[in-house]
Amino acid sequence: MTLTDRQRQEISISKPVLGEEEAAAAREVILSGWVTQGPQVKAFEEEFAAYVRALHAVAVSSCTAALHLVLHVLGVKSGDEVITVSHSFIATTNVITYCGATPVFVDIDPDTYNVDARLIEKAITPRTKAILAVHQIGMPCDLQAVLEIAQRRGLPVVEDAACAIGSEIQIGDQWQRIGRPHGVAACFSFHPRKVITTGDGGMITTTDAVVARRLRALRQHAMSISDTVRHAARHIVFEEYPEIGFNYRMTDIQAAVGRVQLRRLPELLERRRILAANYAEALREIPGLIAPVEPPYARSNFQSYAVRVTRPFPLSRDQLMQEMQRRGVATRRGVMNAHQEPAYAHRGPCHLPHSEAARSDVILLPLHHMMSDEDQAYVIEQLRHLSRGV
Ligand SMILES: *Cc1c(COP(=O)(O)O)cnc(C)c1O
Repeated sequence: MTLTDRQRQEISISKPVLGEEEAAAAREVILSGWVTQGPQVKAFEEEFAAYVRALHAVAVSSCTAALHLVLHVLGVKSGDEVITVSHSFIATTNVITYCGATPVFVDIDPDTYNVDARLIEKAITPRTKAILAVHQIGMPCDLQAVLEIAQRRGLPVVEDAACAIGSEIQIGDQWQRIGRPHGVAACFSFHPRKVITTGDGGMITTTDAVVARRLRALRQHAMSISDTVRHAARHIVFEEYPEIGFNYRMTDIQAAVGRVQLRRLPELLERRRILAANYAEALREIPGLIAPVEPPYARSNFQSYAVRVTRPFPLSRDQLMQEMQRRGVATRRGVMNAHQEPAYAHRGPCHLPHSEAARSDVILLPLHHMMSDEDQAYVIEQLRHLSRGV
């Protein structure tokens, strides 16, 4: 294919897989007349919980809402500190700020781009209320190390698993899906940039029935009686609002789409892992482009494919992005750092050298279910070509 053909049909970084089945599921809900937090949400929660083997799953409007709600339920408030990484999508830090608490950033491991668990202990103070651990771009963090510290120091662990549906982690000698959950709760996103989507949406998994009950009430204004219960009641019932809640509901339209997406997931994961393996093999032959490291305890869903651009590769990360765009290949920079954004500039500088290097050196390559072998071969060929100098 020539360059001009390529420019007409750019290879996109990511593409949701949505088809007739999702459309039919949404249509059915719309025509049913019950469009929010009803039977579809309940079924989606049950199927999601079964998939990750969690006891409880609570659907909400986004992963940001999920994380905020969990921190709120843990009682995180003004004056508290929550330990997390700056090197994440900004929502991870924002939810701590929503609670009035202070995010305390620890640096990442430069190989996995996830929290360096060895740095957590030093960041703990008497104000520390929780640890918010991120499974960045689908790569599980060293959860066992994080949990060990948390247990010893009596701190709850919340998992930001926004990108990690279908990712697996080895606990003892067992492989388990992220979301079982291993901390107090794990939070997932169904934004279109993630592996499965409901347009927008989120899910919380927990083993704690009390936490699950509070989450269910608080996502719906803390209403004491749910719509479904009131609807089915034979006598009139009046609800109460014992505390201040939120509107973080998921609609039944979203949930019906999510159920179809969840059925597609095994196939999506298989294709993503094949594409990731193809990239890894090709990158071994390209000096200066470093493929993602999957530690022995982790299996990624490759929500994104992060490559570090370093010497002796002849181009900088930004030059490489520019050249790939010229060749009709969409790329993105690696994960951002909250502390480098204007919104958190008031905190002053932080010493997070590995986070800052990852932000400036990492490129995300196209990887999605609809990506053909030919498209991937084209991307790899461009990288090879550029490695020889332009
Ligand atoms: C996408 C993402 C979020 C936010 O998810 P939404 O569903 O868009 O609110 C939070 N944390 C991480 C790590 C993410 O990648």
